[in-house]
Amino acid sequence: MKPSIDQLLALIESKEEELIQLTQALVRIPTINPPGDYYGDCIELLRSRLEDRGFEINIIRAEGTPGDDEQYPRLNIIARKEGSRPGPCVHFNSHIDVVPPGLGWDEDPFEAKLIDGKIFGRGTCDMKGGLAASIIAVEALLEWMPEYPGSIEISGTADEETGGYGGVAYLAEKGWMAVPRIDHVIIPEPLNKDRICLGHRGVWWSELETFGKVAHGSMPFLGDSAIRHMTAVLDEFEQKLFPSLQQKVTAMPVVPEGAKQSTLNINSIHGGLAEGFAGFPAALVADSCRVVLDRRFLIEEQLSEVKLEVLSLLDGLMKSRENFSYSLKDLFEVVPSMTDQNAPVVQSVARGISRVFEREPEYVVSPGTYDQKHIDRIGKLKDCIAYGPGILDFAHQANEYVGVTDMVESAKVMAMATYELLSGEQAE
Ligand SMILES: [Zn+2]
Repeated sequence: MKPSIDQLLALIESKEEELIQLTQALVRIPTINPPGDYYGDCIELLRSRLEDRGFEINIIRAEGTPGDDEQYPRLNIIARKEGSRPGPCVHFNSHIDVVPPGLGWDEDPFEAKLIDGKIFGRGTCDMKGGLAASIIAVEALLEWMPEYPGSIEISGTADEETGGYGGVAYLAEKGWMAVPRIDHVIIPEPLNKDRICLGHRGVWWSELETFGKVAHGSMPFLGDSAIRHMTAVLDEFEQKLFPSLQQKVTAMPVVPEGAKQSTLNINSIHGGLAEGFAGFPAALVADSCRVVLDRRFLIEEQLSEVKLEVLSLLDGLMKSRENFSYSLKDLFEVVPSMTDQNAPVVQSVARGISRVFEREPEYVVSPGTYDQKHIDRIGKLKDCIAYGPGILDFAHQANEYVGVTDMVESAKVMAMATYELLSGEQAE
């Protein structure tokens, strides 16, 4: 007779101390990205732990991806545990990189101190706490159910914080994180323990440059200021583009509320004299001005329309403004991704949440992108969500932390969902 789900949940509770220690051990390896420090050490920790528990290990270096070199190899691990008979593959994907700690910490960001039921440190919430919770969830499940159909995978991947090209994108291209190899993916990003993140908005980053003609600053009429041309562009944005973006509201359940609209951030602006020079400026008319634009768009919008909005304003200026010229360069683009609420992984995690928290989950969409984009677009796998412990707002902040109870509870949800996805039976 199969032991009861209550026994599985109790088993996870009994592993609380182990979960704390694993989280601390992961956080104490400062895998700061950029540049991609200590990936090898973190992969080694995961390898030795999971190999000891009978996982088949693959360590994959994303050779030739941005930032990959001998000093900072982009290393990834996929650990796989095959069941006793054929069946689906449930995959937990966590990124092992963390953003630089920055200033303002009350504790050492890499000491992973446990204070009042919270572990503090860079990467606790985003997302080594989630990685540790998924490992404990899977280990408990394997103890509780040694015989199962299909397979379970746990991956630790590089470079999510810098676009995922040396991590999930590479693995999806090579078929590791793609159909038909895997069937269901849970990414334990910190989305709060009772929320299911179905996907994310789209992104278009671009660099816009206006051109002028250099001249002596005392006689600007002999030149043509690229900065004044850019001012005209920004004025068009203020008068026309920003108001129109405000009108676009999505039906996607994006959080926070403000991100339900289309948004544009002017990431940076530069024109004229080079920055970083401490001396007295030379009297020159700027012949170039550049802005970097960060446009986030909704599932209801097409990327081509998003670009056309900007292009039509620029073309209007070409007609109305003397000597106006520009170039527009795409830097990065991701289309929105949203998993169907009825997809198997969503449903099984939802049942886990209602069992553990005795309430229905909240379904959300992230304002920014994460590695789901690569699994969706490159790996062609739609049954993918983000679900994990930790509060989204604390990610990347000083004094980042993850709550121990949150990790234990979300590990319970992950274990129950994995059981359902593998066995095809509802957890009772
Ligand atoms: Zn993250």
